[in-house]
Amino acid sequence: MTKSIPNILLIYTGGTIGMIKDVETGALRAFDFNNLLLRIPELKLLDCNIKTISFAEPIDSSNMKPKYWVDIAEIIESNYDNIDGYVVLHGSDTMSYSASALSFMLENLSKPVIFTGSQLPIGDLRTDAKENLITSIQIAALQHYNKPVIKEVGLYFEYKLYRGNRTTKVNAEHFEAFSSPNYPDLVESGVHLKVNYDSLYKPNLRQSLIVHKHLEKDIAIIKLFPGILSTTIQSILNTENLKGVILETYGSGNCTTENWFIELLNEAIKKGIYVVNVTQCLGGSVSMGQYETSSKLKKIGVISGKNSTTEAALSKLMYLLGQNISAKDFKTKYETSLRGEIN
Ligand code: ASP
Repeated sequence: MTKSIPNILLIYTGGTIGMIKDVETGALRAFDFNNLLLRIPELKLLDCNIKTISFAEPIDSSNMKPKYWVDIAEIIESNYDNIDGYVVLHGSDTMSYSASALSFMLENLSKPVIFTGSQLPIGDLRTDAKENLITSIQIAALQHYNKPVIKEVGLYFEYKLYRGNRTTKVNAEHFEAFSSPNYPDLVESGVHLKVNYDSLYKPNLRQSLIVHKHLEKDIAIIKLFPGILSTTIQSILNTENLKGVILETYGSGNCTTENWFIELLNEAIKKGIYVVNVTQCLGGSVSMGQYETSSKLKKIGVISGKNSTTEAALSKLMYLLGQNISAKDFKTKYETSLRGEIN
């Protein structure tokens, strides 16, 4: 079999990787993507064809929103027949949210979609951008018998490829800015690229790509803290049109047992609002019923986010609420692993 040269599409959305310092204010702002490629002549040495596409107006990822996720998904969809792997250049601040969202939006994905970015701009002497970008492209171009090795949405940062929907940003300064606390790394980059084959997502290759573009935005996150007021919870739960809530609880899914709290949640659930329990802890899982402080949540029908990150739980809620799933099936569907986001 002759080895084909993979076609890779770089999608530039913005972020530090392509930013420059404003001479007047000193603040970092996005600049023209074509300049990014000029700054990395090494890209020409890679064993793949690289095409590029950029957001018309690159953004700092703190301005990310579902509309832009749909834009990214549409770029992937419209190039799917001719492209073997994608690298999405994205600011690190909300990269885990975007990688999680795209994993749900791209059902039956059988090609790599690798999110990456950097902590320092590409023009900086000590930049981490070049390594992140070059290795992400190499990972997106990895093939076995002319078929992509990675068939899922990943996130590459500082020598590691993670499953995108398992990641969270854990450091605002270190080059090692991300962590995947509940799932092993997919690839480690050293002298060689070490692929952890057992951990790779194995999609059903007989199904074709379905791109889901309807994401529900009438949702909220409530992070518990000792002393949180009933009026605060009440006002969030009474938000007009609210359809779902991610409840960030303590430890293995625990919360206060005070009556007002359980009653407010119970009322919301009876009104048809879905409440999902995720832990504030970086690692580990929700296990409702393990302590008295979580058994009432289980009883009133709170959904378990299991060992999901908040980022994945939130985008899964947006995605499933956009799917017209009956109230009877919603909890079961939510508690099922759809793209390897929980186990
Ligand atoms: N604020 C930037 C962004 O998320 C930080 C980065 O790119 O890492 O767009």
